[in-house]
Amino acid sequence: MDFNEVTGQKKIIRSLIKLIMEDKIGHAYIFTGPKGIGKRTVAKAFSHMLLCVKPTENGPCNKCIPCRLWKEGSNPDYYQIETVRDNILIDEIRSMQSNIIVKPLYSGRKVVLIADAEKMTVQAQNCLLKVLEEPPLYAVIILTSSNYEALLSTIRSRVTRFNLSRYTRDEMKKIIESNIKQVNSNIEFVINYSDGIPGTALNLASSHDFIKLRESAIDIVHKLFMIKDIDFFDIYNFFDINKDNIDTVLDIIIAYYRDLVIAKTGGKENMLINSDKKNKILSEARNHSLERLIKNIEIVEAARVGIKQNVNYQLSIESMILRLQELVN
Ligand SMILES: [Zn+2]
Repeated sequence: MDFNEVTGQKKIIRSLIKLIMEDKIGHAYIFTGPKGIGKRTVAKAFSHMLLCVKPTENGPCNKCIPCRLWKEGSNPDYYQIETVRDNILIDEIRSMQSNIIVKPLYSGRKVVLIADAEKMTVQAQNCLLKVLEEPPLYAVIILTSSNYEALLSTIRSRVTRFNLSRYTRDEMKKIIESNIKQVNSNIEFVINYSDGIPGTALNLASSHDFIKLRESAIDIVHKLFMIKDIDFFDIYNFFDINKDNIDTVLDIIIAYYRDLVIAKTGGKENMLINSDKKNKILSEARNHSLERLIKNIEIVEAARVGIKQNVNYQLSIESMILRLQELVN
């Protein structure tokens, strides 16, 4: 994907193109912002343009050898560290280190991309620091991270940061429509729920599972409002089978409580995330106190924190269910 194919982030893209055209490229950059915002897309488009030997203000030429090799995914002057594992280990940075000292073959530059840089262990970060302290003249190292603070301050002080901003509704709509032929959910809901983050929107819009998960999670919210006559194990079971998606489940539940709060406090209808369930939300909001709804959001957030901090999953969920039912404080 070229810069001109990237929707949004125009300010950052203009700055990056300007740096290249004015030949003011430094040795290290980092793209930061929430997960799914498109850091890697921008970082790769930047890498491509850095490698092109005849870039223009509109982007890479797409004709030179580096551009052609880039399109084939085989440009030897580009090195990428991208992992689905939890950590990036020192050995991976060492391999990059021995690759980067070999001069570029086709471009004036050699570009390294380290995606999710916060995954680097401290040893890996220290190893990278050595490269950043004395990079080869032709090297450009690009990092992406959704957790900038997790990087050593010594690394942070050596990289130029570009923080990606959330997308506007129009940009989101454009991204969804150009990427997905058939949107499986109500598009307004997808835009509201994904809060300016294209990655979230694209996952939602293409997922059949998400629609089912959302309906079931909202059903659970309704069950939890009933103090009597509910089957605790039935509810617990839902959270148990969706353990791998717990963050999404909790997001859906919180979004529903949040909408009730908005309806309760006289917020505008277009502020609702679950805009497709507007009528239900407006009538339901009357049945609950504002205090209770806000408390519920806090309870769910507390469960999320507990799970993240590795408190026993079952305990966190059970306590959340009991507290939401007002059976315990
Ligand atoms: Zn080119």
